[in-house]
Amino acid sequence: MKKPLLSKSTFIRGLQCEKSLYLYKHFYKLRDEVSPQLQAIFNQGSNVGVLAQELFPNGVDASPSSHFKMQESVLKTKDFIENGESIIYEATFQFNGVLAALDILVKDEEGWKAYEVKSSTSVSDVYINDAAIQFYTIVNSGIDLKDISIVHINNQYVKDDGIDIQELFTIESVYDRVREVLPKIPSQVGRFKQVILQDEVPAIDIGSHCSTPYNCDFRGHCWEHIPEYSVFNISNLWTSKKFDLYNKGIVTLDQIDLNNNPLNANQFLQVTSELDNKLVIDRPKIKNFIEDLNYPLYFLDFETMGTAVPIFDNSRPYQQLVFQYSLHIQNEKDDLEHKEYLAEPNPNIDPREAFIKQLIKDCGDTGDIVVYNIGFERGKLNDLITVYPQLENEINHIVSRLKDLMIPFQQKWYYTREMRGSYSIKVVLPALVPELSYGDLEISEGGTASTLFAQMVLGEFNGDIKQTREHLLEYCKLDTYAMVKIYEVLKSL
Ligand code: SF4
Repeated sequence: MKKPLLSKSTFIRGLQCEKSLYLYKHFYKLRDEVSPQLQAIFNQGSNVGVLAQELFPNGVDASPSSHFKMQESVLKTKDFIENGESIIYEATFQFNGVLAALDILVKDEEGWKAYEVKSSTSVSDVYINDAAIQFYTIVNSGIDLKDISIVHINNQYVKDDGIDIQELFTIESVYDRVREVLPKIPSQVGRFKQVILQDEVPAIDIGSHCSTPYNCDFRGHCWEHIPEYSVFNISNLWTSKKFDLYNKGIVTLDQIDLNNNPLNANQFLQVTSELDNKLVIDRPKIKNFIEDLNYPLYFLDFETMGTAVPIFDNSRPYQQLVFQYSLHIQNEKDDLEHKEYLAEPNPNIDPREAFIKQLIKDCGDTGDIVVYNIGFERGKLNDLITVYPQLENEINHIVSRLKDLMIPFQQKWYYTREMRGSYSIKVVLPALVPELSYGDLEISEGGTASTLFAQMVLGEFNGDIKQTREHLLEYCKLDTYAMVKIYEVLKSL
């Protein structure tokens, strides 16, 4: 059997960017490192795939003994079909230099049906192309497919006493949509084979295709010529407008024509602040903001986790569940007290109940509760009302006291060039309080905290749990201490 040139994933890669396909085949080592968060997403996808097999139980598995031995799967699949098997997991086919592994192949009274499992919550265009290359390979291998479906997560499912597989997944036939794109497949396959066999790297410049539909893993290589601070860092500027500037040769902020540009007022401020090394402080607005805060002040921050398959009853797929908070309480004399909560990572104990009960106690009755990005904390508190309606009054009382410390920075009432257009607390903190930063912490951003805690709950964490809990506490504590210090800088103005 001749070695395949394309797999399903390299075909999809080629549709996104032919240079990416070529680099993947010839310069694999130039790929960016896979971050732990991305790896966790990949692992989650694999787990979802295995779980979905329960929709069609008692099948036979055509998986190879190693990822590099896919031919084993092709032969196993062939044998299984010849032996009359009707449910095959990881069924693999090869045709015309394309190798495609399908999650589940089923034969029922109507004939063969293909099911591809995705851990997302809807069917995107890229999944249609994904299904189409599979359909092309399977049908041309002699299987008369009657239907092809995407099996995806149903985000409206609410777990209640065990996982209901039928409710957790939605099976959506994409047969008609696949038939629409199918005529293009042979020429696309031919084209991508030519690309792989050519001598030169395709001359493709960076563009919006670098992040659509996926973040390309050759960005580190292709974007090397873009300086660390460039037009691509202009806050909230449409990607198309950034590339309009880039395509005109405008890469750094000093190359922008300030009399003729696509920038709004805040973007203009970002650029001129950088060029003129200008500090922007709107004292009257900051004064009003500070005067509107009522002591004692409760500086509060939540950490959350979410998994594709819900772990706890009364929760949905990917729902972000609170598991940790930090609270710094400051009175009018500037005395500071710290309180915190971090759940036990246990799949049998819902972290939310003890979290909200302790939070209600710790927040007292009076004083404003200061958060950074109010929509997040308010959203999580409203979610908790749905799960614990008996605590509705107490939770609503907390919600009514929330104030957002992000506003002065989001509105650019305070802006320094170090913020580089961002108003994330991770950027605002070192700009206002240079002696404090997240750089020294083992855990320095919420995504890592979320991933680690979820791994601990699922029993998939291999590190030191006690030490990691300490790191989680340190990280969340810095978030609220940072708010205290930022508030003090604003007050001093
Ligand atoms: S970074 Fe952009 S240009 Fe480079 S291979 Fe990826 S998609 Fe293509």
